[in-house]
Amino acid sequence: MKKAELEEFHQLFRQVVKLFRSRCWICNGKYNQKEAFVIHHRDYNKTEKIYSDFKTTDGKLDKLSYYRYLIPIVKQNPKRFRLLHHKHHWLAESWARFKLENFERCVKVAREIIKRREGKL
Ligand SMILES: [Zn+2]
Repeated sequence: MKKAELEEFHQLFRQVVKLFRSRCWICNGKYNQKEAFVIHHRDYNKTEKIYSDFKTTDGKLDKLSYYRYLIPIVKQNPKRFRLLHHKHHWLAESWARFKLENFERCVKVAREIIKRREGKL
C-alpha cells in the first residue's frame, strides 16, 4: 500500500477500534498501528460482500477497498464483529479447519502443555 493509502487504512480502523475497547478480543492486547489487526466477522450476512470480492487490477486482494466497504457495516452493528490481532485471527482460522472432535482433543493437549509449563499438572 502507498503511504496515503496506508494512512487511510489506519484512519478507517481508528473509526471503529473504540467499539471493541481498542483491544484484541483474544489476548486483550491494545490496538496499535505497528501490529496487524483485523475485524473478524462473528457471522456473515449472505447479501454482503466478502474480502475475496475485493481485488486489485492485478488480481491481488484489495484490503483498503474491503475496509472502505466494511467499516460502515461494523459501525452499524459492532456486535457482529470482533477486533483481533491478525496473528490470533490466523490461529483461530487454522484451528477452525479441524473437525470439532479433533479440535477439542487438540485443545486438551494444548491445555496439558500449558499446565505443565505453569507447574499446574
Ligand atoms: Zn491478540
